[in-house]
Amino acid sequence: MNADQDLFERARKVIPGGVSSPVRAFGSVGGAPVFVSRASGPYIVGADGVEYVDLVCSWGPALLGHAHPEVVEAVRGAAGRGLSFGAPTEAEVELAEAIRSRVPAAELVRFVSTGTEATMTAVRLARGATGRDIIVKFAGCYHGHSDALLAAAGSGVATQGLPGSAGVTAAAAADTIVVGYNDPTALDAVFERMGDRIAAVITEAAPANMGVVPPSAGFNALIRELTARHGALMILDEVLTGFRVGPAGWLGLEGGYRPDLITFGKVVGGGMPLAALGGRADLLGMLAPLGPVYQAGTLSGNPLATAAGLATLRLADDAVYEHVNRRSAELQSAVGEALSRAGVPHVVQNAGNLFSVFFRAEPVRTYDDAKDQDTAAFARFFHSMLDSGIALPPSAFEAWFLSAAHDDRAMARITDALPQAARAAADS
Ligand code: PMP
Repeated sequence: MNADQDLFERARKVIPGGVSSPVRAFGSVGGAPVFVSRASGPYIVGADGVEYVDLVCSWGPALLGHAHPEVVEAVRGAAGRGLSFGAPTEAEVELAEAIRSRVPAAELVRFVSTGTEATMTAVRLARGATGRDIIVKFAGCYHGHSDALLAAAGSGVATQGLPGSAGVTAAAAADTIVVGYNDPTALDAVFERMGDRIAAVITEAAPANMGVVPPSAGFNALIRELTARHGALMILDEVLTGFRVGPAGWLGLEGGYRPDLITFGKVVGGGMPLAALGGRADLLGMLAPLGPVYQAGTLSGNPLATAAGLATLRLADDAVYEHVNRRSAELQSAVGEALSRAGVPHVVQNAGNLFSVFFRAEPVRTYDDAKDQDTAAFARFFHSMLDSGIALPPSAFEAWFLSAAHDDRAMARITDALPQAARAAADS
């Protein structure tokens, strides 16, 4: 047994499934996960000291690569001044200003520690502001694990093949309506039927938790139009896309509409536990202490996390996004070519620099499409890549993540590994 397998055995005796979050367990691809001992730039190092090119990037936050020296220095500096105060700090103000200057629709910003809290707060605020109960979400979109948002939630849930989750009350589920993604007719019909009971529609700005399924042209704008017409709110979930697909997230790339509430996470915390809810000042003004919608957090706006987020946003300039975009385009064509050459049915889909590979021949527009793929072929592809020292996301339903630190050497290692992995995928 290698050190990762040893640790996995030990972990399973003290941690459910050996992991602190389900997808990490390699449940759908099999085998023991890499237990990361350290990471730097585009590389992670497993418990045995084996180095892998990392295409997970902490599921998005590591936009600059791991342990960027200036981000680490900012966190060190903050740590030396105290780990947590439970009191406001100047850095929080600076980070909120940095967010608003990139995303003007985030007129006010409330910090929390996880994306789950950000979307949960958005839902509570939408219900509090409208006096309505129903939340509309899309099948395959993941917004964290709060009760109201777990229905048909993609990625971890899809990977596990669970219908939703035990422990969510029928009442909680009844107030969540799930609509097929990229289906304007179905959305229209829901508003026709119960428009005056809908508090909000929540959507991933560009879904990446059922693999990457970009919104069809005009779909987000339609959500905006229908919600506005019926007195409901639009919650744009940019936890994954925010500050990753571009300086102002997906909203900055797509434009043309203005959501009421926007959630951020991942990159905004630079790898530390930090997320945020932004949006219309009149709505955010309904949060405690100003208004009746309660929300709080002992560690919210934590000084180490705000330091990492600020340093990351300061460093994430146009050159960073150009680099990640270019590397992403290169990798998308290299993967496509290798799979074509090996005769493996596949589609590579992207939303800006986010992309994923579906092991099926036809494009994916909905969650049902995404589930109809050859996950066994993905598992063979995944393990061949891992054996060659490339760490892909361990699920066919996840985006692949690159960083500003993925240089020629890292890219060459990935492309060298692809032909063999494509042949493994072809070999059933
Ligand atoms: N929304 C989206 C779009 C996400 O991708 C995620 C996490 N993958 C979340 C919300 C939840 O964030 P967290 O895991 O930090 O709770």
